[in-house]
Amino acid sequence: MNLKSTKNQTKKEIEKAKSLSDLDNIFKKYLGKKGLLRTEFLKIKKLSKKEKIRIGKELNTLRVFLQKEIAKKAKEFRRKELSKQEKEEEFDITLPGKKIEFGHLHPLTLVQREIAGIFQSMGFEVVEGPEIETEWYNFDALNIPEDHPARVALSLGKTFYLKGGGLMRTHTSCAQIHYMEKNNPPLRIIVPGKVFRAEATDASHETNFYQIEGLMVGRDVSAANFKAVIQKFLEEFFKTSIKIKLRPSYFPFTEPSFELDMKCTVCAGKGCSACKYSGWIELLGAGMVHPNVLKNGGLNPKNWQGFAFGMSLDRLTMMKYKINDIRLFHSGDLRFLKQF
Ligand SMILES: [Zn+2]
Repeated sequence: MNLKSTKNQTKKEIEKAKSLSDLDNIFKKYLGKKGLLRTEFLKIKKLSKKEKIRIGKELNTLRVFLQKEIAKKAKEFRRKELSKQEKEEEFDITLPGKKIEFGHLHPLTLVQREIAGIFQSMGFEVVEGPEIETEWYNFDALNIPEDHPARVALSLGKTFYLKGGGLMRTHTSCAQIHYMEKNNPPLRIIVPGKVFRAEATDASHETNFYQIEGLMVGRDVSAANFKAVIQKFLEEFFKTSIKIKLRPSYFPFTEPSFELDMKCTVCAGKGCSACKYSGWIELLGAGMVHPNVLKNGGLNPKNWQGFAFGMSLDRLTMMKYKINDIRLFHSGDLRFLKQF
């Protein structure tokens, strides 16, 4: 083997190599187990000691040369490969970014918080009550005896009774009793929460909706106080001046009882579809807390009096955002929810 010509030949081969696998083949051809150099090394065993040293040295030089050249070329290939990858990964920093979608609160939550804020500004505390109740808290303590038409109507299929006893509360009024039991007057609370009725659902009825209960008890809290509080609340909530009127009504837990109508804000009382052409919108039920209810809450009706009211959060939310179907709230339909 002519060392010089072999060296030149390998140099050319390495230069011509187009890929790492080409280099790999060159490596195998000369430096592999059955490569040319190994064969040459085996041959020199038969030579004289002097020749052995001379040719051995030359072969070693060639081996080192080949290793270096191949490594150099391989490095080149890898560098090219890397810069190619980098180019592919290049991105345009002027392109608009992907928009991250944030969630937001449900319209009922938004309105509930707004209402709570308004009442808090008038010194009301926001409290909660249990959703699973006993007949005592849901009916008896609220002065609704067993044979009372309201209770009979609610008991006959409208109340979700639980197998293990108890029921799903049909109104938030039960929370009044819980609160009176644990707190001394004067009291000023609102109770937002879920209530449950086994009703056929339609555009204005749901089996699960939200109420906001209000209770104010003091030495001389009167219906005039109620009027002032609710007027202030409605004006803050609808952000306009509001005309209200109280109509006598009947609820077992208040005496006297009244229903509150609000002059239609859509037509200013002229009559439109929102107010069913009456000019007024029925908004909530209220009254002076019945002495029996105060007693059941542990208060002496001779010393304390107050008002209570209950309104539908769903209804207020529908009015505020002009939503025409209560079922949309629980539909989970993003086309609806994304509007808030
Ligand atoms: Zn109207």
